[in-house]
Amino acid sequence: MSQDLKEDIYLDYPSSHFLDTSDIICHELRTPLTAIQGVLKLLKYQQFGTLSEEGQHLLDMAERNATRLTRLANSIDHQNSSIGALISVAEIETLKLENDLFSGFNQQEFFLHYQPIISTAENHQIIGFEALARWQHPSKGLISPTIFIPLAERVGLIQQLGLYWLQQACEQLKYWQQEFPSDCPLTMNVNLSTAQLSSHDFSHQVEKIIHATGIAPHTLKLEVTESALIENQDIALETFIDLQRIGVQIYVDDFGTGYSSLSRLQDLPFDALKIDQSFIRSQNWTISEAILLLASRLGLDVVAEGIETPKELYKLTSLGCEKMQGYLFSKPLTSQEAGQLLEGDARISFFLQ
Ligand code: C2E
Ligand code: MG
Ligand code: MG
Repeated sequence: MSQDLKEDIYLDYPSSHFLDTSDIICHELRTPLTAIQGVLKLLKYQQFGTLSEEGQHLLDMAERNATRLTRLANSIDHQNSSIGALISVAEIETLKLENDLFSGFNQQEFFLHYQPIISTAENHQIIGFEALARWQHPSKGLISPTIFIPLAERVGLIQQLGLYWLQQACEQLKYWQQEFPSDCPLTMNVNLSTAQLSSHDFSHQVEKIIHATGIAPHTLKLEVTESALIENQDIALETFIDLQRIGVQIYVDDFGTGYSSLSRLQDLPFDALKIDQSFIRSQNWTISEAILLLASRLGLDVVAEGIETPKELYKLTSLGCEKMQGYLFSKPLTSQEAGQLLEGDARISFFLQ
């Protein structure tokens, strides 16, 4: 620590000249922390009433931050100057990435790729796309959504990012619907995070985007994972009902990999199930068949994802699955590449590959 800073601190503590600087820093850290941790405990044990999902999320974040500061105070206390005792290299990387998310959002480093969804009943015609988020990091290159989505959820940026992607996807959809008109207009699937569903005005935001872009609501399909059916049940239910009123369709993504109760499928306004690619990869046709049967009984549509081989295509077709996506047909594409595909006859010529 510089001499100047030491002197500044000592000026605030005229009677504490006998104290070491580290004692003062510790004192400065611990005094507010004691009060903060007290309030956090009261909140945790619901002394101020039940928290909303968003409130719970903020509480978790505050608890993590308080723990970090406590660790810092302990480390200074024990004169432990090793940064490794405070925070691991992996944690530093994660913190840096979390920080970069904010600048990345402002610098427009996020964009969407689009993976075609085809219909076997319509001669392998492209009936729509799934929008998949990508992050072009300035030094780390392309980062997978499986890495940055959980981070964006943790730092509370997912709501803003999610709305940004929704807006982009709807604008792109409107453009393609106008460029490639059809009796059965192209559709767009957009993934949602559970945290987005717990935001009270989410459905209102969706309505505004639909209105602004002028797409027909039923051409937008929002994908939620099974965990959304388990977590924050009350607010999510309200949101699902609002979305249904707006006319947007709701798909259950990665179906069969979570632990939701099957009866929730009947209670909630879902339109389709997506068979998770793990069942395709493991050639688990019994599960795929059971999902198709369940969906048909409940009047739900089905899309199978992760189709990579002709064998998988034929097997699923024989089980009655008509909508699919996967590398066999196309990898996720840039908007330009997807537009070029639509400019052809929009029929995926994977047999020729
Ligand atoms: P998901 O929604 O289940 O998306 C399917 C994932 O499988 C995508 O990975 C896609 O690129 C990949 N995929 C498609 N076909 C095949 C195939 O034939 N073989 C294999 N091995 N993989 C295939 P991606 O783009 O890395 O996305 C991973 C997950 O990240 C998504 O899983 C979704 O849960 C999440 N995600 C992506 N974009 C968004 C977004 O905009 N918002 C939110 N909340 N989550 C997103
Ligand atoms: Mg999905
Ligand atoms: Mg999926």
